[in-house]
Amino acid sequence: MSIQLEDKHIVVVGAGPVGCLMSCLLKKKGAKEVTLYEKRPDMRATDIDAGRSINLVLTERGLAALTLLRERERVIKELTVPVLGRMMHDLEGNLTYQPYGKDDSEHNHSVSRSELNKFLLDEAEEVGVKIVFGHALQDVDLENKTLHFLKGNDDIKVQADVIVGADGAPSPVRKALMELDGYEGRVDMLEDGYKEIPFAAKANGEYAMAEHALHIWPRGNHMLMGLANLDGSFTGTIYMPMTGDLSFEQLQTKDDVVAFFETHYPDAIELVPDLGNTFLENPTGTLGTVRCGPWFYKDDVVLIGDAAHAIVPFFGQGLNCGFEDCTTLNSLLDECDSLEQAFERYHELRKENADAIADMALENYIEMSEKVGDPAFLLKKKVEHKLEQELDTIYRSRYATVMYSHVPYKIAQDAGLIQQDILDTLLHDISSPDELDINKAKALIEQKLTPFYQKHNVNIDKAL
Ligand SMILES: Cc1cc2nc3c(=O)[nH]c(=O)nc-3n(C[C@H](O)[C@H](O)[C@H](O)COP(=O)(O)OP(=O)(O)OC[C@H]3O[C@@H](n4cnc5c(N)ncnc54)[C@H](O)[C@@H]3O)c2cc1C
Repeated sequence: MSIQLEDKHIVVVGAGPVGCLMSCLLKKKGAKEVTLYEKRPDMRATDIDAGRSINLVLTERGLAALTLLRERERVIKELTVPVLGRMMHDLEGNLTYQPYGKDDSEHNHSVSRSELNKFLLDEAEEVGVKIVFGHALQDVDLENKTLHFLKGNDDIKVQADVIVGADGAPSPVRKALMELDGYEGRVDMLEDGYKEIPFAAKANGEYAMAEHALHIWPRGNHMLMGLANLDGSFTGTIYMPMTGDLSFEQLQTKDDVVAFFETHYPDAIELVPDLGNTFLENPTGTLGTVRCGPWFYKDDVVLIGDAAHAIVPFFGQGLNCGFEDCTTLNSLLDECDSLEQAFERYHELRKENADAIADMALENYIEMSEKVGDPAFLLKKKVEHKLEQELDTIYRSRYATVMYSHVPYKIAQDAGLIQQDILDTLLHDISSPDELDINKAKALIEQKLTPFYQKHNVNIDKAL
C-alpha cells in the first residue's frame, strides 16, 4: 500500500538540514508540489552563519537517511573528516585517547552543518523542490491549512494541502499545534550556553592537533571541544553556564577571556588567533530540550527534526535523530493507507525514542564535562572496550549502539542500565582491564543482557 501524493501541495517550513532532506523525499515520492519556506536568506549566497557554523558529527542513523538520496558516499567523501575517538586534554596539557568503536571501522564523521545544509539545498532544487527564502512563518490557521508569513513588512498567506514543520527548536508550527486541546509541549533550557571558537590550521595548512579525534578539555562545570574541518582548521566550542561564577557573563573583556583560558585551557590558547576578540565577537547560543506531542494533526500537519524534539548536543545525535525521522516517515508513506495513519504511526514509533535520546544527551553532558578525566571512569571505559573486543557478538556499548546501529534509542537506553550494572559488578574487584575475568563477564552478560535483547528482538551481533 502506498499513499498518493500526486494531488498534494506540501509546504515544508524551515530549510535546515532536516527540512531539505524531507522535501527531497516527498518530491521523490511524487508529491505534485513541494515548497520549502525559509526565514533566512539563501546561505549559499550570503554568509549568514558567521560565528555559528556548528560543526557536528554524522553517524549511522543520519548517513542511512542520505542513502535514500543515494548521496551517503558522496557526503562522506566530500564533506566529512573521520573521527575515531576522544582525545582528552588535562590541565597540564597531557593527552589521553579513547577509541569510539571496537575498531577504527566504527567512527563518526565531522561535518560543517552549513556545508551539509548547502549540499541539501542543492539536492532539493535538483529534485524539483521550490525554495522560497526570506519568509518568516508567523502563525498557522490549522483548520484552513493557511500559513501566514512575513516577508520584510509584507504579509503573505499561503494555502497548503499538507504542512511539515521543520522549523527548528523555536518552531511556530509546533506552537500552533500545542494550542489545540490534548496537545502538550515544553522547552527546558539548560543553564549552560555555547560559543564557537575557531582553531586555526598551522601556517603550512596542516592540522595543529590530531585531526581524527574529538578533542575535549573537561573542566567540571565548563568544557571545550574541538572537531576537525576539511581545511586543516578545527571548530572549537566552549560550553559553560550563562550566568554565575565561571560563566559567559563573567567574561566581559579581552583580558578576562585570556586570563580564563590561561587558567583552564592553557594548551588551547596558541590555537586561537586573537582569542580575546574572537571570543567576545562570536555570539553565545542557548541550548534546550523540546518535549511535545502529539507531533501531528489529522492528515494536515506533522513535525520533524528539532521542531519536534530539539535536544542538547552532548550525544551528537540531534541531527541524526532528525534524519532518522525522515527515514521512518518515508517508509511509512509506502506502508500506510492514509497520511493520518502514517503520521500517527510515525509519532508512535519516534516519540519514545526521541525522549530517550534527549535524556541520554543530558546525561552525556555530565560524562563529557566531568567524568572523561576521572581515572575510575577511564578504567570503566577500558574494561568496556575489552568486552566489546572479546565478546562483541553479545556485548556492544550503549555509545556504539546509539552511534553505529539502528537499534531504537529507547532500547539502547534501557540496555545501558543493565550494562552499567554488569560493569559495576566486574569493576568491583579489579584495578586494570588486564585483571578482567572474561568468563565471569560472559556469564553475567548472558544472564542479564542477552534476555533483554531477545525480548526486544534485537540481535546485537548483527545490529552493528
Ligand atoms: C553546538 C551544537 C552542536 C551540535 N552537534 C551535533 C552533532 O554532533 N550531531 C548531531 O546530530 N546534531 C548536533 N547538533 C544538533 C543539530 O544542529 C540539530 O539537531 C539540527 O540542526 C536540526 O536540524 P533541523 O533542520 O531540524 O533544524 P534547524 O537546523 O534548526 O533548521 C530549522 C530551519 O528553520 C528555519 N526557521 C526557523 N523559524 C522559522 C520561521 N518562523 N519561518 C521559516 N523558517 C524558519 C531556520 O532558519 C532553519 O533554517 C548540534 C547543535 C548545536 C547547537
